[in-house]
Amino acid sequence: MIDPAKIWTLAQLPSLPTVAQSLLKLAANPETELRQVVQVLKVDPAISAKIVKAANSTFFGTRSEVKGIERAVSLLGPSVSNSLSLSFGLSASAVSSSPMSTHYRNCWRDSIIHAAAAAEIARRVAPASADDFAFCGLLLDIGRLALLSAFETDYRRVLEESHEGLSLPQAEQKLLGIQHAEVGARLMEQWKLPAAIVEGIRWHHSSLSEFDEQRPTENFPILAAMAVASFANDALQSKVDDQAREQLDRVARGLLGWNVDETADFLHQTELAWKQHASLLEFDDAESPADLMMQANEQLVRLTLRAHVACTQAMLRQQLAEQERRDLEFQNKQLQKQALHDPLTKVYNRQFFDEMLDTESKRCTRCASPIGLIFADVDHFKQINDTYGHQFGDVVLQQMVTVFATSIRNSDILARFGGEEFVILVNQPTERGLERLAEKIRRRVEEESFLFGDMRVPVTVSLGSAIAVPGREECDLPHRLIAAADASLYDAKRGGRNRCCLRSLVDDRERALAQQVLQHRFSRWLVARRLLDIPAVSRALLECASESSRIGDLAIQYHYLDDDQVTHILELQEQTGERFGVAAVRLGWIGEPQLVHLLSLQQENPRQLAAAIARLGMLSSARVSAALEEYLASRLPDDGNRFLETEMVTA
Ligand code: GH3
Ligand code: MG
Ligand code: MG
Repeated sequence: MIDPAKIWTLAQLPSLPTVAQSLLKLAANPETELRQVVQVLKVDPAISAKIVKAANSTFFGTRSEVKGIERAVSLLGPSVSNSLSLSFGLSASAVSSSPMSTHYRNCWRDSIIHAAAAAEIARRVAPASADDFAFCGLLLDIGRLALLSAFETDYRRVLEESHEGLSLPQAEQKLLGIQHAEVGARLMEQWKLPAAIVEGIRWHHSSLSEFDEQRPTENFPILAAMAVASFANDALQSKVDDQAREQLDRVARGLLGWNVDETADFLHQTELAWKQHASLLEFDDAESPADLMMQANEQLVRLTLRAHVACTQAMLRQQLAEQERRDLEFQNKQLQKQALHDPLTKVYNRQFFDEMLDTESKRCTRCASPIGLIFADVDHFKQINDTYGHQFGDVVLQQMVTVFATSIRNSDILARFGGEEFVILVNQPTERGLERLAEKIRRRVEEESFLFGDMRVPVTVSLGSAIAVPGREECDLPHRLIAAADASLYDAKRGGRNRCCLRSLVDDRERALAQQVLQHRFSRWLVARRLLDIPAVSRALLECASESSRIGDLAIQYHYLDDDQVTHILELQEQTGERFGVAAVRLGWIGEPQLVHLLSLQQENPRQLAAAIARLGMLSSARVSAALEEYLASRLPDDGNRFLETEMVTA
């Protein structure tokens, strides 16, 4: 008896020396196609199994089971397949003229016949699986190869005994306690080959009655084909022995339903096919295994180098592609920038301004918050051009833009409206704020030194502003706003130039309300109480999230209105376009003080502002909290005081 454990740890199974030689020849030629390698591999069980094993290993991450050599090679690719093919194992006793060499040859011969027979069967019963069947056939006796190389002497006795009345499986069972079908199946299982192949090997010596007793349902076609292939090999080996031939007829009829003629034709074709490979077994003058192995190792080194070079080249190509991608991205950004900016002055162009005005108008309409524009037009610019030249005119425009840009806030948008006319879209404007900003710009331009050589050229601008607080029904706000700002610019020109004019689209009632809201804001209160100055509060306001809440939500939060009332007003708004606050006051659900409170909260969240002030270190946390508390207590409308607690808690 043997210890089969020795088999499971076999590092290599012996390959056909002629196959090894052919592979070496193919590997030496860079022109070799993978197809040629596959052709050679297909007759050697040891290397083929190794390659399919690799294709099924998790290392290569192939998702579906690889059942055949062709697919394995195509998945692994040329360099891996070539390297694996070259890592064959050779056995000295297989090549020498020792009695062992005959046993090896018989084993390889049988493998080739099994493969040929399996392919012939597939052609008749499962044409699409011809490669898989042939591969399984090739591996049927891999257990024999393993036993031979692991236990040379013991197995020789088995082979000799099997000629004396016992079948090979019987002799194996008697002398070793295990049969080659089981050895092959378990070995291939360990190599993680697909279940169909493992079972095909396990069942290939089963008799018809064994198939009947426990008919395997899964993979039956391939299992039946392997059993028939095995009997076909017996029949071909013992031509004079009618018994083997009769057994084949019986099994082929029982498993495949073939009649005698069909089986005869199959056997004939199988014989022709295997004869084509017969020369593979003639290797009496083969080089010594040691020499072949050395050559293979050298080839492997070369292959590895080639793969390394290919890998390096691929890496370089990838780096190049990455650089190109970055360049394109950069160009793209430049193009985008160009599309939105004026080339001479680098400020936004008219197209961008139009889009921003549109977006901003919609936002302001949604929250009924003010929107403001300032047009600035250089005075007598034609004359400047005519006197000092167009080039100087350009310089004036560029310098002018610097004055504008340094006068406005980050949240304002400056654009070239056309020619020597610029526009500023002012964020969260007030009438007074617009007037001040326009005046500041006018004065700074007047004071700016525009130098033509050493000579200071006096340049002035006229500015026209417009402000609106859009109602929900507002439909043509951008147009109305531009028209108003243009008209006030005209006023400024007509009034003598170098001056500012403003037109307001806000009516008196609205203006009064806006004034109250402004007074009510926490920022205003902080300045009035001299806790902070205007620049500091402005900075803190910039830190606050600008997302304004909906006035209906605020009304619910402060318990001024309930859900039903808010829904009712929103529906009313849909129909009439009336403003939320105005409707709520008209319905008598809230009073003016509550509306003012809500609007001031909507414009500016006192808690956020307090947090920003503390974060920026302008006042200590304790100081800010105290201020906020005092502000809320003093500013909430009388009937709102009872909600103060809610506000403090939710803060
Ligand atoms: P007003 O005070 O009424 O605005 O007089 P103006 O001369 O400034 O106005 P007008 O519209 O008569 O002339 C504007 C001039 O601006 C005419 C045009 O050639 C010049 N201009 C427009 N774009 C550019 C530019 O990009 N570079 C230069 N140098 N000149 C420009
Ligand atoms: Mg003009
Ligand atoms: Mg002009």
